[in-house]
Amino acid sequence: MNTIFAEERLTRRSTLHGLREAFSVEKQREPLSPIDLHTLKAKVTHNEPFQFIGFNKELFPEILNDGYSVNMNYKSEPRPRVFGGGLKYPEYMVYNIHFHWDSEHTVNGVRFALECHLKMMGTQFRSRREAVDKKGLASLSSLWKYSKEENTSLKTLFACHDAIAKHPKIPAWPTRPIVISQLIPENTNNYFRYDGSASAPPYFETTNTVFIERVHFTRKQMSILTDICNEVGDPIVYNSAEIVRSITPPIVYFNGDKNSCRCLKLP
Ligand SMILES: [Zn+2]
Repeated sequence: MNTIFAEERLTRRSTLHGLREAFSVEKQREPLSPIDLHTLKAKVTHNEPFQFIGFNKELFPEILNDGYSVNMNYKSEPRPRVFGGGLKYPEYMVYNIHFHWDSEHTVNGVRFALECHLKMMGTQFRSRREAVDKKGLASLSSLWKYSKEENTSLKTLFACHDAIAKHPKIPAWPTRPIVISQLIPENTNNYFRYDGSASAPPYFETTNTVFIERVHFTRKQMSILTDICNEVGDPIVYNSAEIVRSITPPIVYFNGDKNSCRCLKLP
């Protein structure tokens, strides 16, 4: 009897805790991303160029299928770093990379096959919490389209893909190093920038950068990357959040030259 009561109490407490958590998340934060990025409406800026450190290095992040996407988690040094690009703080470190299929952001109403998110925080903060409070989170997003050429960064990631595809929530460590330089486009001077949020709860405020030049990969690579299962064993066929349509949309900036950008010609 005691065991049953204890179990009941535990269940009730966890349910209440769950509700309270869900309530406070809902109360405090609303998603601000993803949005449709419109070239004509965006205000032009000219920030200093980005600098990427460690993107060509052979690193060994944790690889995790979190039941939602394929993740690379950089839990210890060395981590990839980003400077410049008109971001709020001088230096950011990448702590997570993951993918959405289809893309979450759309450009002039057009959706893409894949979107890659590089999640970063200012290196001056001691914790994610502190970075959240000081608006020190940022995300780099790349939009992907099919081509005949394989993406070499995905190739290095796939060395570890089998280990996680059908085993959600069980981390794996790559036996071969992973290079991430090709997860962003070659030209990083043209991009949209706005103050938005993460697209998943608890929707932390995030400075979002969406590169305009596409990243290329093959259809075969898409089928390998997305061949993963969630916790109940179902294939994850779609993992993108819906476009947020707010009555007070954020100010979107366009860095670069709208006229010179070939990639704005659709799609
Ligand atoms: Zn994401």
